[in-house]
Amino acid sequence: MSNTPPRDPARFGQSTRLVHAGRDPSAQYGFVNAPIYRGSTVLFPTYDDLMHRRGRYDYGTSGSPTMDALKTAWSELSGAAGTVLTPSGLAALTVALMSVTSAGDHLLVSDSAYRPTRLFCDGVLKRYGVEVTYYDPLIGAGIVALMRENTRAVLVEAPGSQSFEMQDVPAIAEIVHAHGAAVVMDNTWATPLLFPAHERGADIVVEAGTKYLSGGSDLLLGLTSANAKHWPALHRTFEHFAMCAGPEDVFLALRGLRTMALRLREHGRQALAMAEWLQTRPEVLRVLHPALPDDPGHAIWKRDFSGASGLFGVILKPAPKAALAAMLDGLELFGMGFSWGGFESLVIPFDCTPYRTATRWEPGGQGLRFHIGLEDIADLQADLDAGFARLRAAM
Ligand SMILES: *Cc1c(COP(=O)(O)O)cnc(C)c1O
Repeated sequence: MSNTPPRDPARFGQSTRLVHAGRDPSAQYGFVNAPIYRGSTVLFPTYDDLMHRRGRYDYGTSGSPTMDALKTAWSELSGAAGTVLTPSGLAALTVALMSVTSAGDHLLVSDSAYRPTRLFCDGVLKRYGVEVTYYDPLIGAGIVALMRENTRAVLVEAPGSQSFEMQDVPAIAEIVHAHGAAVVMDNTWATPLLFPAHERGADIVVEAGTKYLSGGSDLLLGLTSANAKHWPALHRTFEHFAMCAGPEDVFLALRGLRTMALRLREHGRQALAMAEWLQTRPEVLRVLHPALPDDPGHAIWKRDFSGASGLFGVILKPAPKAALAAMLDGLELFGMGFSWGGFESLVIPFDCTPYRTATRWEPGGQGLRFHIGLEDIADLQADLDAGFARLRAAM
């Protein structure tokens, strides 16, 4: 039994790679996991070494063995040339977008993008002279009509935040690359385990590690990976901002990574069971989940994804706000709060109407976003069943 990393890990299956990626027990006295290196200063043995910045590490912001373990693992699992780690998923998105745009450039952003991404584009990028246009997430190869001479990047997210529209990433990537521009993808929902974004055409891929890498709602972290073409600019931009992640959070993310395939499988199975059950409920108008055969995004999902995670939406039949409040306030097991990806189930009302600009959001009722945790399905259904009874009683 070896205490060194396996050679040529690409020949292994995904679950095996998840276990071994980024680990080298022989470099740490045989201990299985990389230790937490806390540190700013790195000492140089000689004047000459200092002047030439010789040595694997030179300062805490640019890396440590703890950071390297996660960066190496993530690049390997994502099929990327390199990865940077940031203190949040949103920070990972901002670094990604700053690395591909300059004043005078044009950026295309899906109308279904994570809302804080939009706020960054409108609040910061525009101020620095980047023109931002939002586009219909279902546009596919039609993106060609929106490409301009100065379009530098196109941001995609599949499925869309809250609304769960599926985007045809390979079709968009083909057009974008023909124009010499970059595809930036927020792949938080699927992770590289369910959607190999780089392989499907994304150049720079963002993951909010806060969600499924953690799996415990106990840390904030972002990962941005890039292919060989975009890695130098991404790395340079990251170094300028020095927006580095904390070592404890990186350690927890590494710990989460080892069980991520197992957890995703269970979240996915549970969520699909809940989605199917919700489809049978008379209070529900529509379920937004790409793994359901009648979902408009199902064909793309089936072609490009190898599974679904634990997050989906429903549209309720029209109900007064007081009835919705009665339903949600009395839930025993579902928590109400932002973020997702942990072991515990969550529900949150959503409405895309106020911020959509390229498309109209008119689903015909109140939206609810569910994250399905690891509880017993029967208990979750009973909790919602009682909630629906309160909803009906308050109508
Ligand atoms: C949560 C989330 C983010 C941001 O992650 P934070 O760590 O909370 O900043 C980005 N994109 C998507 C799709 C998310 O759900």
